Order: sequence, then C-alpha cells, then structure tokens
Amino acid sequence: MTSPFSVPYSALAAEAALVKADLLRAVEGVLDSGRYILGPEVAAFEREFAAYCGAAHASGFSNGTDSMHLVLRGLGLGPTDEVITAPNSFVASAASIALAGGKTVFADIGDDGNIDPAAIEAAITPRTRAIAPVHLTGRPAKMKEIMAIADKHKLFVLEDAAQAVGAALEGKRMGSWGHAASFSLHPLKNLHAFGDGGVVTTSDAKLLAQLNQARNHGLANREQCDFFSFNCRLDELQAAMLRVQLTHLETWTEQRRTLARRYNELLRPYVDVPDEGPGEYCVWQTYVIRSDRRDELKKFLNDNGVEALVHYATPIHTQPAAKSLGYQPGDFPKTMRHVGRIISLPLYPTLTHAQQDRVVEVIARFHRNA
Ligand SMILES: *Cc1c(COP(=O)(O)O)cnc(C)c1O
Repeated sequence: MTSPFSVPYSALAAEAALVKADLLRAVEGVLDSGRYILGPEVAAFEREFAAYCGAAHASGFSNGTDSMHLVLRGLGLGPTDEVITAPNSFVASAASIALAGGKTVFADIGDDGNIDPAAIEAAITPRTRAIAPVHLTGRPAKMKEIMAIADKHKLFVLEDAAQAVGAALEGKRMGSWGHAASFSLHPLKNLHAFGDGGVVTTSDAKLLAQLNQARNHGLANREQCDFFSFNCRLDELQAAMLRVQLTHLETWTEQRRTLARRYNELLRPYVDVPDEGPGEYCVWQTYVIRSDRRDELKKFLNDNGVEALVHYATPIHTQPAAKSLGYQPGDFPKTMRHVGRIISLPLYPTLTHAQQDRVVEVIARFHRNA
C-alpha cells in the first residue's frame, strides 16, 4: 500500500519487514505446535514482559481495553464508586471504568499534558476507589505524587500505560509504579502485535491469579467456574510474534528518542516542542507539538505531503458517550486549551532524516509565510 503522503504518519509494513524472517519462524513454530490458546508462548511472553517492566507478573489479554476493564472490574465497583482519570486520553481509559460498573471522574492536566496530582487530590471524595493515570504520548505521569496520594487515601492505582511501554521515571519503568498497569499491544503502540493484544503487569500474586481467571471465563480449572466472566485472552500466535518484537524494543525506543531530540532541536524556533521533564525517560508513542494556529498548520502539513494527526481533538468529558456524567467543556480549562493546540507528527524507527527534514521544512515555510 502506498501512502498519498511523502511522510506518512506510520510505516508498519516497513517495520515488520525488518524482522520478517524471525516473525515467520515464530508463526511457523506455533502452527507446528498445535497449541493456539494459553500455551507456552503466552506464558513466555508474560515472563519476559514482566521482567522488562520490572514487575513480578504479567497477564496477556485480547486488547488494552479489555485488560483495563478487567482490572477495574476486579475491584467490584458499584455505580457510585469513583475512579479518577485524565480527560485528554483515548476514550478507552474512561470507557473501561464505565464498563467495570464505576463512575468516571476526570481531573485536569498539568503543563506536561498528563493528569495533575493537585487536581486528583481536589477530585477525591469518600466514594473514590481508584486512580487511573494515563502516561499519554509515552511520557510518564507524575507517579511519585500520585502514589503518595493513593497511599494517603488508600486508593488502588491502575496505570494506563497503553502508550508508555519502556518509559521510566527516575529509572523505574512504567508498569512497576501502580498496583497494576495496563498496556495495549495495538499495531500503533511501540510494542505491538499483528492485530490486537493487551497485557497487564502487577507485582501482586493474588491480583495476577484473579486476572488470569477473569480473562478466561472465570475458570479455576477445566471444570470449575468461580465467577462468570469474559473471554479476553492473548493468543499464542500474537504472543510468539510479540516475543520477537520485544527483543528489538530497546533499539526501536532509542531510535524514537534520537529522532524526537532531533525534531525538538529543529522545530524549537517555530512551535512548542515536547521536552522531557527531570527524571523522565519518554518513549514518544506520539510526538506532539503545540501551536496557537493548530488547524491551519495541520492543514498546511497535510497539503504538503506530511500526514499530521491530532490525538485527541475531542476530550472525553465532551463526548456524547460521557453526557450522563454531566460535565461542561469548561470544567477542565487546561485540557481544553491543550487539545486545541496539539499536532502529532510522524515519528517511528524507520523515519529517515530526509523525511524528518521535509516535515521541518514545511513547518518552517508555514511560519515564513505567516
Ligand atoms: C490504545 C489505548 C488504549 C486501548 O488499547 P486497545 O488495545 O486499542 O484496546 C487505552 N488507553 C490508551 C491511552 C491508549 O492509547
């Protein structure tokens, strides 16, 4: 498939081509094994992924929404039980709270684009049960402050780490901060399946056992069903390919980081660029610049062969699906200002300097013309 853009937003086929022989070998191994569901590949991927994140355990899921949903469902939330999350995320962050039977409470973001710990504190009520911070764009949320708040109020913390595999704060990787963390393995995430997948990390052995059961019909063994539940398992084929991908993740992440630094240097004269905060190791699942003339600049990029997108233009509290929560757009002023200024630029390991220079040249030309 050829893109109409000279710099497309993603290049998944080109990335797959880099490791195609290993992927095909992994697929062949599974086909030959006759084990397709909850076999040795899923178990090995879970071990390797947990170790990568610095967590004791991992549980593979069908996707990153099911994994968040089932972690929260395990808390036994009732309709008045509140879970605090960020309004500027992908809709799945809030959806998983609603699907688990709880009430979504949003808290505004800080200058880093992630949920603001002070806003979390202000949103806590006697009915608050959990906090679900999102490490948006692959930048760690303020986990030290968030864990301190959670300790003080005895709240469960589920990291939405869908965009943040490999990201770290003060040397400690995302997925090892909260009581549990959920990762998406969707093709556009930094570590991805060739289809859908998700994974939860936790260092709580009881929670792991409960999740392993919750993803598999509530079965304790072949015969005994302890609670009715869903079928949301990661499958052997995806796990086998994910194990190949995982061995390259470190290299691909460093390539992203090098390209992000280069973008930052070249674009700083024209737009607000995403700098890392102290102690942060960001993995740039999305490379997001900010401009006061967002819509014009995005159109100019698109018209000049650069596929720029916006993640996400409509904050969740203003979605039709969130109507019953009763929020007004102006309830989160920092979120509203932020989402009106953001543009996501192409950034992936196979992006060439020539393509990157092309993006920079178009942005420079936009500002010269102004
Ligand atoms: C991708 C994503 C999800 C959902 O993951 P799926 O695997 O697509 O279900 C949840 N939260 C965030 C922040 C995401 O980016």
